[in-house]
Amino acid sequence: MSESTAGSVLVLNSGSSSIKFQLIHPDTGESLASGLIERIGEPSGRIVYHHGDGAEERNCLIPDHRAGLTMAANIIAETGLDLREAGIVAVGHRLVHGGDIFYEPVFIDNAVVQSISILSSLAPLHNPANVIGIEVARAALPDIPHVGVFDTAFFHTLPPEAATYAIDRDVAEKHGIRRYGFHGTSHQYVSAQAAEFLGKDIAELNQIVLHLGNGASASAISGGRAIDTSMGLTPLEGLVMGTRCGDIDPGVVLYLHQNASLGVGQIDDLLNRHSGVKGLAGVNDFRTLLTLVGEGDESAKLAYDVYIHRLRKYVGAYLVELGGVDVITFTAGVGENNPDVRRDSLAGLGRLGIVVDNDRNNSNSSAARRISSDGSDVQVLVVPTNEELAIARAAAKLVKGSAAPQV
Ligand code: ADP
Repeated sequence: MSESTAGSVLVLNSGSSSIKFQLIHPDTGESLASGLIERIGEPSGRIVYHHGDGAEERNCLIPDHRAGLTMAANIIAETGLDLREAGIVAVGHRLVHGGDIFYEPVFIDNAVVQSISILSSLAPLHNPANVIGIEVARAALPDIPHVGVFDTAFFHTLPPEAATYAIDRDVAEKHGIRRYGFHGTSHQYVSAQAAEFLGKDIAELNQIVLHLGNGASASAISGGRAIDTSMGLTPLEGLVMGTRCGDIDPGVVLYLHQNASLGVGQIDDLLNRHSGVKGLAGVNDFRTLLTLVGEGDESAKLAYDVYIHRLRKYVGAYLVELGGVDVITFTAGVGENNPDVRRDSLAGLGRLGIVVDNDRNNSNSSAARRISSDGSDVQVLVVPTNEELAIARAAAKLVKGSAAPQV
């Protein structure tokens, strides 16, 4: 057993079109090795693996998730890491939809795998990919406890008025249709980090967290408990995202079906993959979008304005829902790196006690930091998210607190 890997957690995020993994120390947060498998099922797949000071990259056909995971295991072994002998205390699996079954990290056994499979109807792109990740990892590492950490779990506290869609109750109950929320691991981690940064007890804080990546979501958190979030039954609801439309009149779906003769699959594709910033401006990467805005591209400007407008709407709604807010935190790729979005989404709110300081907002840093002015009643922060570390900690905690972890 290597001393450096002893006590570490292997975090596996087997997603719909890519797989990420990371060997991480839950106490120090040190990343000991990490990898990305992408373009699964496309003509040219790619595996990138970082370990110690080295890096490996392979471009080859990766027909499916199982093949990708097997290739990753081979690269890890070939570069000298024996996962079975590394002293890993748990494998933490990022699982997307826990429905109304899973609210806490759980040891994964056959019954849990079956439940996650059953929940696939709620997350058809994600849960089946999650299950394959679990099956391959359990077969490869049968003597290590496997722990599932659910993206929906943090939002199980949503009060009924926030979790309920105003549709026929019987239909909703029969089909499990309610607002579940996603990115929960990030919202929980970031809100805890924000409290720690401010040196405050999380129980005393009203917080808004804006997780702005390719996928984007907002949450309202009171005393550490989520009371609302922008994503719903699926990750399609809420903010404008890289390729997803966010909030839309459901009548648009009916209209597209009835008048544009689009089938369910085509509408799914349109709203999930060809909408949002990409639908409006043709690009989904925010850096490219801002370059286009700078060049005077009108479609890009409209996409940016729609994105900011929606974001401000959610900030306003959550300010009222919380009855006042102590801290607003930006996180994820766009939130951590894009000062324009942070400035514009909170501009002109001095009357509400929210003032972003230009210099602080424009300064580059990868650490947690305050960007509000000294006179701002509301603290505005940038806090890097780290879902892998949060999953590693949750898995290690469960294993540590369990007298007899199931394997
Ligand atoms: P996800 O995890 O949802 O795939 P990320 O949190 O990695 O997404 O965020 C990806 C987004 O962050 C992309 O739109 C990317 O352009 C944006 N981004 C990353 N770095 C920067 C940067 N330095 N400036 C502006 N945007 C950035």
